[in-house]
Amino acid sequence: IKKITGKYEAQAEPVKMAAVLGAGIMGGGVAYQSASKGTPILMKDIAEPALQLGLDEANKLLGGQLKRKRIDAAKMAQVINRITPTLSYGDFDRVDLVVEAVVENPNVKKAVLAETEKHLPEGAVLTSNTSTISITDLATALEKPENFCGMHFFNPVHKMPLVEVIRGEKTSESAIARTVAYAKAMGKTPIVVNDCPGFLVNRILFPYFGGFSALLSDGADFRRIDKVMERFGWPMGPAYLLDVVGVDTAHHADRVMAAGFPDRMEHEGENIIDRMFKLERFGQKNAKGFYRYE
Ligand code: NAD
Repeated sequence: IKKITGKYEAQAEPVKMAAVLGAGIMGGGVAYQSASKGTPILMKDIAEPALQLGLDEANKLLGGQLKRKRIDAAKMAQVINRITPTLSYGDFDRVDLVVEAVVENPNVKKAVLAETEKHLPEGAVLTSNTSTISITDLATALEKPENFCGMHFFNPVHKMPLVEVIRGEKTSESAIARTVAYAKAMGKTPIVVNDCPGFLVNRILFPYFGGFSALLSDGADFRRIDKVMERFGWPMGPAYLLDVVGVDTAHHADRVMAAGFPDRMEHEGENIIDRMFKLERFGQKNAKGFYRYE
């Protein structure tokens, strides 16, 4: 990984000022991670309460570090001051790289990306944190698709080291290089992948969930499977992972994978993700999934 991404990093102008669109679970996480590793970031949303939630999350994470004496109060204030919440595009003419993290809807994303592009300086890079939408398709909304690529973080952003940098059909190598450099500056491990359904990680993860589902059909107990995978050395098993990711999110991704690879990823009848989705057992987000959360 180092050999490939190191080559990109060396070519790139560093990102001095970043922006994130959306202050939700992912946007708030990106803002925190960027600020805590030293890159100032504008955090734009469409609603004041959403901005507050994003800032609250950063404060909570920093508060935890303060309590464990990993940082002092001055450092905490310094990091928070690197996040500028905003409802407007006013300062976007100073931005080198944008991470779009609004709702997972292609029409909303296209409208937001097209509007953002108008406010950026020449050569700035625009990226999307989409999990399932084609980067090449999103790029059709843009005047300069060469400056656009995917930048797919995993949840929770501050804990998960990998970032998928996704090359659309028209993405330039310099846009990839700058995105790789920014991911590294954020303390992450970027990998560069081509645009396809599921990118790379979900192409591994969803066949794994398929294997899990087949074991359950054969009569296995999900708790035992989780225990076995933990003993195998993974941080959590498939049932708990689905509860953390969210069964509704996984269900949507499962459909995208099936449509993208019908010969390999479509399954006959319901799998366990379909069944849990129908039962509205979405996992930790609604306090009932494979496990109960009270
Ligand atoms: P979320 O619902 O928590 O946050 C979305 C935020 O976007 C909200 O605060 C909303 O007010 C804001 N928003 C909506 N329209 C906007 C606009 N026009 N301009 C600015 N802000 C706007 O969603 P999330 O879970 O953070 O997901 C965001 C993106 O990240 C999605 O594309 C999702 O697929 C992707 N993603 C999510 C996860 C995950 O586990 N949650 C993981 C990887 C990628």
